[in-house]
Amino acid sequence: MEKTFDKIVSHAKKTGFVFQGSEIYGGLSNTWDFGPYGSMLKDHIKMAWKKKFIQENPDNVELQAAILMNPRVWEASGHLSSFSDPLMDCRSCKTRHRADHLISDFTHGEVSADGWTNEQMETYIREHNIPCPKCGSHDFTPIRQFNLMFKTFQGTVEDAKSTIYLRPETAQGIFVDFKNIQRTYRKKLPFGICQIGKSFRNEITPGNFIFRTREFEQMEMEFFCRPGDDQEWFPYWRKFCMDWILSLGGQRENLRYRDHTKEELSFYSTGTTDIEYAFPWGWGEVWGIADRTDYDLSQHQKFSGENLEYMDPNTGEKFIPFVVEPSVGVERLFFMFFCDAYDEETLDKGDTRIVMHFHPVLAPIKCAVLPLRKSYAEKAREIRQSLSYDFETDYDESGSIGKRYRRQDEIGTPYCITIDEQTMADGTVTIRDRDTMAQERLSVEQVREKISQAIRF
Ligand code: ATP
Repeated sequence: MEKTFDKIVSHAKKTGFVFQGSEIYGGLSNTWDFGPYGSMLKDHIKMAWKKKFIQENPDNVELQAAILMNPRVWEASGHLSSFSDPLMDCRSCKTRHRADHLISDFTHGEVSADGWTNEQMETYIREHNIPCPKCGSHDFTPIRQFNLMFKTFQGTVEDAKSTIYLRPETAQGIFVDFKNIQRTYRKKLPFGICQIGKSFRNEITPGNFIFRTREFEQMEMEFFCRPGDDQEWFPYWRKFCMDWILSLGGQRENLRYRDHTKEELSFYSTGTTDIEYAFPWGWGEVWGIADRTDYDLSQHQKFSGENLEYMDPNTGEKFIPFVVEPSVGVERLFFMFFCDAYDEETLDKGDTRIVMHFHPVLAPIKCAVLPLRKSYAEKAREIRQSLSYDFETDYDESGSIGKRYRRQDEIGTPYCITIDEQTMADGTVTIRDRDTMAQERLSVEQVREKISQAIRF
């Protein structure tokens, strides 16, 4: 079974995980709304991240910084001067392209132009005769840089003084609050500050469904440590991120590490690795893990005039900490887990089913309650109510039981329980496993225990 892009996207839309944004107005291109199941899947991804990065990690804490920040932040971080993409227009069909994407798409991800100069990219495109993906022409404008930050105005006057930006990453909020957190929470190195939140980038070439959008959610951690210790923490977090994906059912053969070459690295970074996933169109970045040295804090110290040094409580030594940053997009993880989970199975009698093999932790609904007859509805609702105290549940009494199972398979519900005559007599139910389709008879309390075990993470 081939998992094509079209199949995956149409399944996500059909099952109400994702809708086109502003659909009744003809949509707003590349914006997406997450329906009830989609919202739950996103929430479960975020909860799983928070659990492993914060709850279970005694070194790490959470922050929720403002989206709107003093514009000087973006001067210090370098976003105002250099957060731009190399843009080329096709003179024939007038579409815009990112030069680095023309190269990576043309080579199916085998050649990365990250870190190349504009001239190197133009030469590569010319020498390899790379066509416009829309119309096939070879007539491109020269590359120009395009800043990706969304601008807006704060207050009633719209002038240069009131210009502010929607944050293009959550990381800078963490750097700006480094001292506040370190002092008030008496944190000793090493420690991490984690943040989940919306980021905005005026991408030139958004697309591939929810893979590249202009509004997205990031989960970022800045892990501060002593200079030199970053050499140990960088491989540690690189592996930690991959293990996190695998522990949630990510398939190893669809994942790879891609270490940035010397030419690609930002001048301040001593190492950057992307965890990439084999999306239906080719390899794409899901998670970026970077050793950012002391660059960000030093910049903010310089621009703000605040001393951002850390004083070692044992030695009295003062220095600017180094930082390792794992940064991941929630929607990219969503898409990755969605692709991995998707399956079409042929059953006995030539029947087929689409089934989403989500890890139970990620599955939007953990258990669906299905009464076999309308007259069992009251009992079924009562059981559902009791289970919903512990898990997300669904209830469905319409259509044949086979159809109801299929509906739950299609959204990846790991367990369905049916309420039948015996339930009315002794309170037991049958519980069906999504993947094996095996059924067993259990009491409601045993069902609760079984599902609790399955979602322990
Ligand atoms: P790309 O090369 O794909 O543009 P990037 O290297 O600019 O990504 P980072 O700045 O490292 O991305 O952002 C960290 C993470 O945030 C990425 O690994 C990705 O998961 C997510 N992300 C970045 N840009 C977008 C976007 N436009 N839409 C959705 N997710 C994004």
